[in-house]
Amino acid sequence: MKFVGAHTSAAGGVFNAIKNAQLIGASAFALFTKNQRQWSAKPLDTKTIDTFKSYLEDSGIEPQHVLPHDSYLINLGSPDSEKRAKSYDAFVDEIERCEQLGLDRLNFHPGSHLNKIGEDECLDLIAQSLNRALDATTGVTLVLENTAGQGSNLGYKFEHLAHIIDRVEDKSRVGVCIDTCHMFTAGYDIRTKDSYEITMSQFENIVGFEYLKGMHLNDSKPELGSRVDRHQSIGKGKIGLDAFRFIMNDKRMDDIPLILETIDSSIWAEEIRLLYSLEQ
Ligand SMILES: [Zn+2]
Ligand SMILES: [Zn+2]
Repeated sequence: MKFVGAHTSAAGGVFNAIKNAQLIGASAFALFTKNQRQWSAKPLDTKTIDTFKSYLEDSGIEPQHVLPHDSYLINLGSPDSEKRAKSYDAFVDEIERCEQLGLDRLNFHPGSHLNKIGEDECLDLIAQSLNRALDATTGVTLVLENTAGQGSNLGYKFEHLAHIIDRVEDKSRVGVCIDTCHMFTAGYDIRTKDSYEITMSQFENIVGFEYLKGMHLNDSKPELGSRVDRHQSIGKGKIGLDAFRFIMNDKRMDDIPLILETIDSSIWAEEIRLLYSLEQ
């Protein structure tokens, strides 16, 4: 069974993300548990936590179909040790917020080398940060998102994700989120049945579907392999609708949050209906 939703707004309180998900007929959703463009946030208070849990219960959406996303400022692979330490502290705070809300996974971008260190060195630093964070927390799986490879962002090759996972000690608490736009602009084609199967078998061989803990369903404005990250509404970009039909009929994507991060939130309800209509 598929669980489709969108990254909804948590403005006014994290519990509002649930209400916004219900308004668009979502059976999954993503949210920021704090302002994604600021380093610090006030701790979640008991009333907020209780409201979130009771709204979630009432919504019928299962905690494992919620995919919180961390702050854009965090760079666990920063070559600068002070910035890396700041990122680490903010990351642990993000994990603890998920724990408090009763959520079991946190989606994040691996990190960037900023052209100051090599790719492998940066990936090793990220893995070290993850090992420390896993030791310091409980119950939340850390979900690496593949990237478009814009600038010096790592995670655009399946090998990057595998490199990090290989070095994580507790493999029961590490996972992956595939963003279809990022995957496509990083050079992985999914537009035809053949190219889709080739890309997915590469993923299976290099990373493994047992690590797939969520997906971001986005069409792409830029071309295949452009390494530029610009999302587009489903079926209106360079990927096209067929790829999403393959996903909606692929059992390997059952029971994980499938999240829209498409550019026009006013048509999310329509896009969710469209995606479900592709199921055969
Ligand atoms: Zn992301
Ligand atoms: Zn994404």
